[in-house]
Amino acid sequence: MGRWIVNAAWPYVNSVPHLGTFIHLLSADVFTRYLRLKGEEVIAVTGSDEHGTPIEVAALKQGIEPKQLTNRYHSQILDLLEKYSIQFDNYTRTESPTHIEFTQSFYLRLYEKGHVFKQEVELPHCEKCNRFLPDRFVEGTCPYCLSEGARGDQCENCGRVLDPAELMNPRCAFCNSTSTIKSSTHWFFDLPKFEKEITEYLNLNRQFPDNARNFSLRWLKEGLKPRALTRDNKWGVPSPFPGSEGKTIYVWMEAVLGYVSASIELGERRNEPDLWKKYWLNKDTKNVHFIGKDNIPFHTIILPALLIGSGEGYVLPWQVSSTEFILYEGQGKFSKSRKVGVWMDEALRIAEPEYWRYVLISIRPEAKDANFTWREFERHINSELNDILGNFIHRTLTFVKSSFSSCIPPVSDLSSADQELIEKIKKAPSNVGRLMEEFKLRDALAAVVELARSGNEYLSEKEPWHLIRENKQEAATVINLCSQLVRSLAILLYPFMPQTAAAIWRELAIKGHVEEQRWDDAGRILLETEHQIGQPRPLFHKVDGKQIEEEWKSNTT
Ligand SMILES: [Zn+2]
Ligand SMILES: [Zn+2]
Repeated sequence: MGRWIVNAAWPYVNSVPHLGTFIHLLSADVFTRYLRLKGEEVIAVTGSDEHGTPIEVAALKQGIEPKQLTNRYHSQILDLLEKYSIQFDNYTRTESPTHIEFTQSFYLRLYEKGHVFKQEVELPHCEKCNRFLPDRFVEGTCPYCLSEGARGDQCENCGRVLDPAELMNPRCAFCNSTSTIKSSTHWFFDLPKFEKEITEYLNLNRQFPDNARNFSLRWLKEGLKPRALTRDNKWGVPSPFPGSEGKTIYVWMEAVLGYVSASIELGERRNEPDLWKKYWLNKDTKNVHFIGKDNIPFHTIILPALLIGSGEGYVLPWQVSSTEFILYEGQGKFSKSRKVGVWMDEALRIAEPEYWRYVLISIRPEAKDANFTWREFERHINSELNDILGNFIHRTLTFVKSSFSSCIPPVSDLSSADQELIEKIKKAPSNVGRLMEEFKLRDALAAVVELARSGNEYLSEKEPWHLIRENKQEAATVINLCSQLVRSLAILLYPFMPQTAAAIWRELAIKGHVEEQRWDDAGRILLETEHQIGQPRPLFHKVDGKQIEEEWKSNTT
């Protein structure tokens, strides 16, 4: 029995998240549900990342306070998470008093331990706007790959995290005039001090995916640099360092501590103030992060260094499941301003949440960027969900109803094809489970569909609709085994499509809930002869990708 902390990247709430952000929340939910069926001890946490300049600017444009803006999106996300059956033990926000207090005391501790220093820095400043320009609001040429349009915090072209002062030809993103440089005092985390520990940590954590490992090793090779902790912003967690009044903690350096503070808050809510210690201060806990590739160094270098620096003995990220990007219809990354992509709220007007859960895990970009197309959306739903999974389950259960008065018929002599099907059922939990534990959620789901496909092949080969007249005993064996497979599929599908799994469970009319089952029991033949099933209903329906695309376009433009 193990103990796990499952974390998902915190959605930045300057709008409703798009599906490229949603997939991290979904992946965390799928993995958590799997762990729970395995009987593991899990806490799953994340929340809304609500500080920083883009939100301040968005609020300014709408003539409201930043908090009003984030209140709106935070509650909208809570509502959407429920609709998609995404369950976190704590989905909180960075404005939570627990988070603010934790961030301040955490950084004061680092300061007292000598890992924070103060320095006069020259920062981009716009004379015309009369303000220091935050990272994302300075644009210029990337000093590493020379691409235009790099932002002060990161170059999207080569993926490097930048310091705004590194940009060549910097311009103010508000008014486009050339930005100048002005001095300001800021506080820095002394990251280079931790080079040895981080090198050792990366060497020990060989399970990181290639993109995370390579990215992190490249950072180390280039040499770690101190990371700015403060900003001249008003909207954020007030900086706790002596003499830093009026400044706030840089949003990236603050949100990344949310994993710990959200766990602390969870304990407070459950009236178990020491709950978080059981997880975070236990070296055997597996701490897993579902993030995008643009977020890697914060999880493999900066967060580990911060946690080590505190000297509190926090468990470090054990795995970062850092996926590539989802691109939209060959038009590149999702962008609201360019109307490219699909957003969490819009998606629900197009199809049922369970269909989205299925399609998104089926295209989860685990090794390379995935291209979302409406054509593929249709194919996943029509030829996989409907024709393979739905069809197998419905054919089996309607046969039980029509030919065996809704009672599971008995098994008699087993042919080699019957034995083969039983073997497949027996091996399924470990086969699918192994893929889950390698964070190949996409392959794991494909393996579940593959199992239903073997069920369909077995049915076509045995033709129980003919057997029922010639050899009722053999037809009974076939239908018994197919019903056993339906039961296994319900359990195996549960992490991916919990509502569908519950619907199958109801059709089977088995006592209890599917979420109370054990994962390994998906490999056992447990449906008893004479057990009476409920009413079979079609689980899915086909969709028309072209029509959906057109409706979607007319609704969003
Ligand atoms: Zn670059
Ligand atoms: Zn300006």
